[in-house]
Amino acid sequence: MFWSVRPLWIALLLAIGFACAGDAHAQAGTIGNIGHTIPVCVRRVQPGDTPQAMFAQAGRFDCTTPQLSLGAGDFWILSAPLPRPADADAPIRVRQVSMWQRQMTLYAQAADGRIVGQFADEFGIGQRLRLGAVVEHRFVPAGAPFTRLLWRIDGASNMRGIVLGPRLATDAQSIRSDTLLAALYSAFAGLALGLLVYNFALWRVLRHDFQLAYCGLLACLLLYALSSSGAMAWLLPDMSNNRRILFSYVMLCGGMAAALTFCACFFEARVLDGWPLRAMRIVILAFCGLAVVLMAIGAPLMPILDRIFSVMMLASPVVVLLAMVRAGRRRSAYLSLFALSWVAPLAMLVMRALYNLGALPWNFWIDNSTIVAMTAETLLASVAIAYRMRMLSHERDEAIRQEAISRELADTDPLTGLLNRRAFLARAVPSDGPRTLMLFDIDHFKQVNDTIGHDGGDEVLRLFARTLRYHALPGVLVARMGGEEFALLGEESMLPDVDVILASVRAVRLPFDLRITSSIGICHGPLGDENDWKRLYRMADKALFQAKAAGRDRAGRALAA
Ligand code: GH3
Ligand code: MG
Ligand code: MG
Repeated sequence: MFWSVRPLWIALLLAIGFACAGDAHAQAGTIGNIGHTIPVCVRRVQPGDTPQAMFAQAGRFDCTTPQLSLGAGDFWILSAPLPRPADADAPIRVRQVSMWQRQMTLYAQAADGRIVGQFADEFGIGQRLRLGAVVEHRFVPAGAPFTRLLWRIDGASNMRGIVLGPRLATDAQSIRSDTLLAALYSAFAGLALGLLVYNFALWRVLRHDFQLAYCGLLACLLLYALSSSGAMAWLLPDMSNNRRILFSYVMLCGGMAAALTFCACFFEARVLDGWPLRAMRIVILAFCGLAVVLMAIGAPLMPILDRIFSVMMLASPVVVLLAMVRAGRRRSAYLSLFALSWVAPLAMLVMRALYNLGALPWNFWIDNSTIVAMTAETLLASVAIAYRMRMLSHERDEAIRQEAISRELADTDPLTGLLNRRAFLARAVPSDGPRTLMLFDIDHFKQVNDTIGHDGGDEVLRLFARTLRYHALPGVLVARMGGEEFALLGEESMLPDVDVILASVRAVRLPFDLRITSSIGICHGPLGDENDWKRLYRMADKALFQAKAAGRDRAGRALAA
């Protein structure tokens, strides 16, 4: 019992450990969302607007309307006055979440009124990415510290906001964030890559469809982690930022389709048949279709495709939960581990979908929840797969045991427990070297049946079999050839003395003081093939017949020609 539930305990401990680790990071607040939050106000771009005028007209900015409700377009975003820096000469780093937009310019105004700007189109934005897909601008003060920031965003799709999560950081904070995030992402990548390799290797042996789906999921997630972390922008500096975001969407679609396929194949075949499987297949196909549309059309339809994607993200946990309810009703052996390892990704999916649809505010951890939840899942999945393999190995051991039992049953005469004729022959032929065959036939057995009944006759057969077995040394085959006819086969020196065995048969105690005797036909000869056997048997049978004819209760001998 303990062994069967132990993986659950390990999984639970890992989950708790992971949750605590996540909490510690969140409290420290050092990864991704480092530095000071910068409050911002927004204003739509009007013809003739200049940065100087915008800095001068802070009062004409809207600081209350949520950015999301303004829709797509071109915008000015003005920061609140920046906090006075501890070191007036230290460079500042302005960080914000990377968004789908055509181009952006970030202006910084210094205390002496000087304004500097940095422009980036969607390619330039890609080159400014830090880990965590944070766009970062670095300004070096020349004499006076910077007091205010102003963004001009052109072609903002405003799917999640215009300027999201703006923060002010120092060089050291930025480097520290990159280092910590590199550790997080590489932990995930290492886990996922390890799982990918060993699941693929296991799939080649076990051929479970869910293993292949899981490999697909891991491959998509690895690529998603590469793009959504921003690392892809470092590897491919010429890639536009919008293309990178598009790539992330496609990988998420692929990952979702693979995850749902995993769920569809993971449970026993009887568990999900019918509507849960159909619902799951519809959502899987929808994700595949969306991935194709994203790749084929993508950019121009982005806001609407993003909405469809978010709705499908909400539908996925629903079909998975329905599948889990069905698995519970049909008592699937795999439900508890499935539920345990997928609870974090499912919660993440719901939160992400709600955030995408504007029902939850932006949060660094929601933004990176896919990686965090999947790191937890991959940890638990390795436990789940080990558990599943343990069950498989139990099934295999049981199958081997059952096979041995059925083989034994097929080889054994049920009445006496001796080998039956077929099994005896299979073991006897071929034998290397000559063998001696002793054929036994109980004398006047019909009379025994007539006297003590058929059941009594059966008991006599059992006692006779026990006598033969008693006298047979290891390596001698003992069989019931049919009816009241038995056989011993072995090397001459291994077989019992004929007189001893005849005496033993005579000594068998039966009800009503009945006695039995047996006649024996003996033949010695080669037993290399089927023909040898036929000859040996024929001659032994002849010798037996002679023993009967000579008065029974004796042995007759013949030599195989
Ligand atoms: P002989 O000395 O010439 O061998 O005489 P016999 O009566 O032993 O020979 P026979 O072949 O005429 O009869 C064999 C009997 O064995 C007939 C059959 O009813 C009985 N018999 C065969 N199989 C079984 C069995 O499994 N159980 C019982 N109780 N009797 C059986
Ligand atoms: Mg007979
Ligand atoms: Mg007989």
